[in-house]
Amino acid sequence: MSPERTASGIAAEVRAGRVTALEVLEERLRRIDELDPLLKTFLKVHEEDARGQARAVDIRRSRGERLGRLAGVPVALKDNINVRGWETTCGSKILAGFRAPFDASVVERLRAEDAVLVGKTNLDEFAMGSSTENSAFFRTANPWDRGRVPGGSSGGSAAAVAADLVPAALGSDTGGSVRQPAGFCGAVGLKPTYGLVSRRGLVAFASSLDQIGPLTATVEDAALMLSAIGGHDPKDATSSPRPVADYGAALAGGVRGLKIGLPAEYFAEGMDRETEVLVREAVGCLERQGASVVEVSLPHTRYAISSYYILAPSEASSNLARYDGLRYGAPAAAGATLAESCAATRGAGFGPEVKRRIMLGTFALSEGYHEAYYGAAQKARGLIRRDFEDAFSKVDVLATPTSPGPAFRFDEKSEPMAMYLSDIFTITANLAGIPAVSVPAGLTAAGLPVGLQLLADSFREDLLLRAAAALERERPFARCRP
Ligand code: GLN
Repeated sequence: MSPERTASGIAAEVRAGRVTALEVLEERLRRIDELDPLLKTFLKVHEEDARGQARAVDIRRSRGERLGRLAGVPVALKDNINVRGWETTCGSKILAGFRAPFDASVVERLRAEDAVLVGKTNLDEFAMGSSTENSAFFRTANPWDRGRVPGGSSGGSAAAVAADLVPAALGSDTGGSVRQPAGFCGAVGLKPTYGLVSRRGLVAFASSLDQIGPLTATVEDAALMLSAIGGHDPKDATSSPRPVADYGAALAGGVRGLKIGLPAEYFAEGMDRETEVLVREAVGCLERQGASVVEVSLPHTRYAISSYYILAPSEASSNLARYDGLRYGAPAAAGATLAESCAATRGAGFGPEVKRRIMLGTFALSEGYHEAYYGAAQKARGLIRRDFEDAFSKVDVLATPTSPGPAFRFDEKSEPMAMYLSDIFTITANLAGIPAVSVPAGLTAAGLPVGLQLLADSFREDLLLRAAAALERERPFARCRP
């Protein structure tokens, strides 16, 4: 990908004064005008607001002020991240008319680095889903094949980056929602260690699993975005006090001497053949560059789906209680009692998947069942975490497919269970709190991208980015666009 298309390239050009932030933005807005009607990645493009931000960056430069690391870089945000004064819909009807009263901490950090916020991207309602088909508004198409899903729930962000509408976007990842759409769209998607990136201003889905992460076309840009948004936030009680590393510096390290583990459970029978071949080839490419590869076992992986689909809905059922038409949520016609009004609001405002999750979670937490479901799922989560601790005592990173297959067709996974099973390789990182990245491994014969997922121990994003960069150097997939 040519440097003027990447976030790092744009920032360098803008800082050097070879192009203005406004020129960069206008070119992207034209591209969005031309292509977004076909792809529907954006719920809302805030052209005028973005122009104002770009002009402000250009004025600061003309005054000789030092510009930030994302100077003039157009960034799109998943529409569950708050931008002051902009609507936050979460892909749901229930939030109609809600304008965010404050900037999410990640948004404050993007602004501090002189990024230009372009608009809000489509998502599965409240980030629940793997295809963006659960958006209450419309479906987003995969730029490689418009008959297929972009993945989800950050499908709008992934497709916008893959189609080069913006060089970078933010998504949120509770069970794979940054990595899986990145894999399906041929982008780089990183889920940071739990606590590395502030969740303040991200609408909560499952608070013990949610993390905001970047979607970009290149590994260098993922490192740049992570360096910008990461780091301690005193306003998020789960934020880690660790100083944030300069991830860009890690990229050149190469993989000589790096130990890569292949978990047997992630190359199970039944997965797509071409996906497995492409992922193994990508690992082979790292091996030729000096990494060593061994097989490892994560035996409790088999509990991952059931444990996640108890814990995430349980937390969601509690987090989504606030959409009652009083505190949050557009009230439906008033009923005779408070309970009736609340039921009418929630009945009309939430879509079927959100309702399903609330019911699942409420049931799992209910008196008499709590220990059997929620308690058991927590124990399984502990075992999954222990598997990773054991693995990382032997290897530096783990390599797996991001998903069992490439992007599926619209309506192909209409059964909830079929959709849930497609998350099998991504949810373990959230349960364990560890970082993971999806990096393009190559294209299937039908021309669909396949992602390689790399996982590392907590706060070892540097290792992930180093390995991902080594793969990208040998296979510069980023130059290959839909
Ligand atoms: N697909 C998973 C789910 O539906 C993960 C979603 C996410 O990471 N936000 O819960």
